Amino acid sequence: NVRVRFCPSPTGNPHVGLVRTALFNWAFARHHGGTLVFRIEDTDAARDSEESYQQLLDAMRWLGLDWDEGPEVGGPHAPYRQSQRMDIYQDVARKLLDAGYAYPCYCTTEELDARREAARAAGKPSGYDGQCRTLTDEQKAAYEREGRSHIVRFRMPDEATTFTDLVRGEITVQAENVTDYGIVRANGAPLYTLVNPVDDALMEITHVLRGEDLLSSTPRQIALYKALIELGVAKTIPQFGHLPYVMGEGNKKLSKRDPQASLNLYRERGFLRDGLLNYLSLLGWSLSADQDLFSMDEMVAAFDIKDVNANPARFDLKKAEAINADHIRRLDVKTFAEACEPWLNAPHANWAPENFDRAAWEAIAPHAQTRLTVLSDITANVDFLFLDEPVEDEASWTKAMKEGSDALLRTAREKLAEAEWNADALKAAVVAAGEEHGLKLGKAQAPVRVAVTGRTVGLPLFESLEILGRERTLARVDAALA
Ligand code: GLU
Repeated sequence: NVRVRFCPSPTGNPHVGLVRTALFNWAFARHHGGTLVFRIEDTDAARDSEESYQQLLDAMRWLGLDWDEGPEVGGPHAPYRQSQRMDIYQDVARKLLDAGYAYPCYCTTEELDARREAARAAGKPSGYDGQCRTLTDEQKAAYEREGRSHIVRFRMPDEATTFTDLVRGEITVQAENVTDYGIVRANGAPLYTLVNPVDDALMEITHVLRGEDLLSSTPRQIALYKALIELGVAKTIPQFGHLPYVMGEGNKKLSKRDPQASLNLYRERGFLRDGLLNYLSLLGWSLSADQDLFSMDEMVAAFDIKDVNANPARFDLKKAEAINADHIRRLDVKTFAEACEPWLNAPHANWAPENFDRAAWEAIAPHAQTRLTVLSDITANVDFLFLDEPVEDEASWTKAMKEGSDALLRTAREKLAEAEWNADALKAAVVAAGEEHGLKLGKAQAPVRVAVTGRTVGLPLFESLEILGRERTLARVDAALA
């Protein structure tokens, strides 16, 4: 039975790297009919926040990445917030100390720094040098009398660690590169290095899928796991798979502080959940060489961790937008119209709520659906229907209203007034007006568009005019000519 976990720390806003990790764990769990455990690693009171915790839950819900055990749903290993499990970690730390898998280390930060410097200068490995490994009871007592405090340090075995990474294959790390490491702070607070593998053990996690930045902690965790097995705390060592780095601008690692990395940005711009997840799944995985576009059901059906690429993935906003646009096209029009609702209301809408006209909206929605990249663009694309007067935009006006525009608009006005009020006839009217002034359709329609919608770009013009209606269209052309 597959059991995976998503275990973020509640610091800052959720970012796309985190979502990618959540998504791959979720897809893996769903593919195997397994269990996704959602655990909150909030043992760092100085950095963790309740607000960030709420944002994580909200993000997972919005993304539809449902979890089987964790906050709100509970489960056999509750509680799932590490801040509520402190006595468990203290108990395990005590067992590790008693059995000699860990030891108290009295070295001060200054002493450690000085020795590390010296080792570096001598070209030797600069990890912990093992000074407190073999302290006698007398030496410990002497340190205690000096008033020194101690951390708890895990004793690494003196042999190399080899494991098979599900993404990267076999990895061997030499003992001198992974030295003894702290698991409990001097003030008694357990560290990530302890609580994360302890909970993975207690929660019977079978596969650890996480970012490549954590690869270096894996040999340590494997050693700790072996000790936990000896102590009867763990049953087996999980398999590890490290997901590739995500690179941002300038081929640097996408930082969680990078504005492009913020999940909220994508929500606010109106990415569809499926569009965003489809794109994020391409950061290290693909359904097939010639198919970029797929649903989450298709992803779940096909997801195999062995297909994840170990090479760094490049975050490409343009591609994300293109994929999102494709997902918008795939919706049925009713779903599309519903998805746009948040942007048709305050605070996004720039028209008075009573001006909103549902019939006009339903008529224009199919035309918008074939053109939007992100849903938030809907507001500016349809406001001409709901504003009493089109938006005033200097730049558009200057761009479209050139010499001769007035003459063209006057002719267009005459022909539109005589036309039957449907898109084809309206188009024919503007084409005819253009011909009289030696202008192609593109040039001829620009002033009409700006006069009626206030903008140089927008939805198909003649459908827009049809929906706006004869009276309002002609009134706007008149206003532009006045
Ligand atoms: N809380 C850790 C993090 O957010 C989890 C690391 C892991 O998956 O082991 O980096």
